[in-house]
Order: sequence, then structure tokens, then C-alpha cells
Amino acid sequence: MSDILTRKIYEGKDKNVYECENNKHLAIEYKDLTLTNGGTKAGIINNKGLYINKINSHIFQFLEDNGIPTHFVKELNDTITIVKKADMIPIELIVRNVVAGTLIERTGLPEGTVLSTPIIEMYYKRVNMENPMINRTHALALKLCNPVELDVIEYNAARINKILGQHLITQNITLVDFKVEFGRVNNRIVLADEISPDTCRFWDTVTGEKLDKDRFRQDLGNVEEAYIEICHRLMRA
Ligand code: ADP
Ligand code: UDP
Repeated sequence: MSDILTRKIYEGKDKNVYECENNKHLAIEYKDLTLTNGGTKAGIINNKGLYINKINSHIFQFLEDNGIPTHFVKELNDTITIVKKADMIPIELIVRNVVAGTLIERTGLPEGTVLSTPIIEMYYKRVNMENPMINRTHALALKLCNPVELDVIEYNAARINKILGQHLITQNITLVDFKVEFGRVNNRIVLADEISPDTCRFWDTVTGEKLDKDRFRQDLGNVEEAYIEICHRLMRA
């Protein structure tokens, strides 16, 4: 069964999603375009699609090798990855180790405060709503998933934090926070979507330099250089 792309089914902010001829796989194409700050700031980051594709593939393969089931199948080319088509659970989980972003105003703590234990937050992913924060009881009452699935996604989010954090620290990258999404493939929960500097905060462990999308959001300097740096460090990990 082939991975020939048949039709575009989704055009997102910074990726396109295509169906594949075999009907079981999707092709995710990462673009150079980026849109952030609530959609008010847009721009092209040179070669972003290529670096996101490489970084994301490395992380998904690493997680698979360490016992986390994922949707990853293979990299098709420089900017496209083939994944298993999943029935997505409309929850975004954000895992945090260090205070940054929206957690600053919610806790009053300064950016960079190391949390005593990781925080796991849930957001309801719904079109035309600004992904409201929810908890377990909302997820169950709204039937977003069943209680066993909820346990699995929370457990896997915590495991990803642990094993990915340990992996990144060997390359002097601090995993400050990240977002993950899960879906069902043949009734089994798999990690889906993307893990990259577009969906995580990566700080240089020694200098504290931001090596992620915040460089673009906050005008902190060349974004391409940071993505190349993350890619190089991961390739030698
Ligand atoms: P959003 O801004 O809604 O998160 P993206 O631009 O990230 O969207 O587009 C990717 C879309 O593809 C998301 O809706 C995501 O849930 C979905 N997706 C990611 N991986 C899979 C998969 N394996 N199967 C089906 N849908 C997926
Ligand atoms: N994040 C994401 N997609 C979202 C919201 C957040 O990938 O729709 C990531 C974000 O890049 C960061 C983490 O989740 O690594 C925590 O984001 P936060 O709640 O601090 O919001 P932000 O400051 O990114 O708006």
C-alpha cells in the first residue's frame, strides 16, 4: 500500500495535512510560515519546515524506541513526514518544568522559576474557542475520552517529560515546557501531532538562551539559527 499523497485535507498555520492513497496514513508537511501571538504576528522563518521535520522525527523515533507508542511512520522527504491516521482526542496537554509563558501571570512567579514537581495542564481543543483550560472531570463529563484513556494520556505525558528531558539535558537543552496531543489508532492510544521548537520551550542549560519559537514571538534574534542549533545537538545526542 503506497504513501502517495491524494488530497490536502487540512491547511493549518504552519503545516498542511494530506491523505495518503492507502487510507491509513497521513502526510504532514511542515511549512516555513509561522503565525503566533494569537494570530497577530506572522512571518517566514527560513528552512523552518525542514528543521521542524528533522527535529520532530528524531524526537518521535526516540520516544518510540523508549516505549511510547506514537503515530510516526517515516520521513518522506525534507519537509514531509508520514504518520498513522488517528482519531484525535481533542485535548492538548501542556507539561511544565520551569515557569514561562502563560504560567507567569497565573502564578505570579518570575520566568525561569524551577517548579518543585512538573505541572500537567489540560486544554479543550475546540474550533472557534480559545482552547479553555479543563481538568479531568470536564474531560470525562464532555466524553472527550474514557477514564482509562485519560489515565494513559496523563501517564504518557509525564513519561515523555521524564525521558525526553533526560535526553535533551545531555545536549545542554532544558525542557522548560511542551504541548502534546494523543489519538487512537485501532483503539490504542498513540502520541500524535508534533513535538518541536514550535510546540516546546527549549532553553540552553548553560546560558539560558531561548532556542524555540519565543525568539520569533519576542524578537530575540535569528530564529533559523536556533532551530539549526537544536537540530545539530539532537543529531549528535
Ligand atoms: P492546530 O492549530 O489545530 O493544532 P495544526 O496546524 O497543528 O492544527 O494542524 C495539525 C492538525 O492535524 C491538528 O488538528 C492535529 O490534531 C491533527 N493531527 C495531528 N496528528 C494527527 C494524526 N496522526 N491523525 C489525525 N490528525 C492528526
Ligand atoms: N503550546 C503549543 N500550542 C498551543 C499552546 C501552547 O504548542 O496552542 C506550547 C507552547 O509553545 C509552550 C507550551 O505549550 O511550549 C506552553 O505554552 P503557554 O501556555 O505558556 O502559552 P504561550 O506562552 O506559548 O502562549
